[in-house]
Amino acid sequence: MKRTITVLAAGLAAANIIAASTLAEETAVKTQKLDEHVYAMSFGHYTSLVVQGAEGVLLVDPANPYRASLLRAEIARLTDLPVTRIVMTHEHFDHIGGTEVFPGAEVIAHENIDMFFDQDPLGLTPGKVDVTYEDRMSIGMGTTNVDLLHFGPADGVAVSVIHLPQERIAVTADMYLDGALTPGWALTDTNLLGSRQILNTLDGWALKHAVNTHSHNTDPALLSAAAEFYNDLYDAVFPVVEQVNRENPAGSVQAVLELSRTLELPEYADWGNYEDLPDYVVKMGFALIHGG
Ligand SMILES: [Zn+2]
Repeated sequence: MKRTITVLAAGLAAANIIAASTLAEETAVKTQKLDEHVYAMSFGHYTSLVVQGAEGVLLVDPANPYRASLLRAEIARLTDLPVTRIVMTHEHFDHIGGTEVFPGAEVIAHENIDMFFDQDPLGLTPGKVDVTYEDRMSIGMGTTNVDLLHFGPADGVAVSVIHLPQERIAVTADMYLDGALTPGWALTDTNLLGSRQILNTLDGWALKHAVNTHSHNTDPALLSAAAEFYNDLYDAVFPVVEQVNRENPAGSVQAVLELSRTLELPEYADWGNYEDLPDYVVKMGFALIHGG
């Protein structure tokens, strides 16, 4: 597995540069057909899953009103059916805006979704969430089934993994980039133990497409590489925290900070943002010490 990842990483670093420039030049919605009735629509640094049902369309993460209006026009090119369901991947404001563009649609999300709605200065949050769930729910679309699964906090606290078991397609948000570390400054709300757990779970599903809300690329190898990175990070940090916790718990924070200044994971040296590895060591170390 390690060898595959190293080879993959070299290719991905180049792919990531291409992806970044493609996103910068984006002038129209890019639609990829992933399966019968299932599409990925990319625009404005976001990719949304679109599922065409027998009586309506399900849309994931409209993101903001401008993008939502472009998606509405693009969906109308595929079908006369209206968007009847909007699913949120998590609570972050940059993903959940634009629901008002589809006034007839049910908004569906994990039950923690509205925890931060009264702290929304840009007014992006939906006026109301129509359907919430606790651990899992299944949505019958007539053409296929869409499962929503909550495994716990990851990037945020209202995280839904969207899974189409029949098509072997899954959607995650903000848990990895293509062959690059997410910049350290963007990890403020990220639970690395939760992201690691989810990516490892999905890596076991033998997916055909792993849709990542900030990438055009649905290759599941990208998800596998990210899971492997989180595992290698965990394997490097955990023994240090475990030992100091046993011998001198009062020194655990200092030990994590010290490790963040010295740890190298050379297999990822050519990944984008590798220089932010110390931020990951700190986040993983603190997640082990006090959770979150
Ligand atoms: Zn997020």
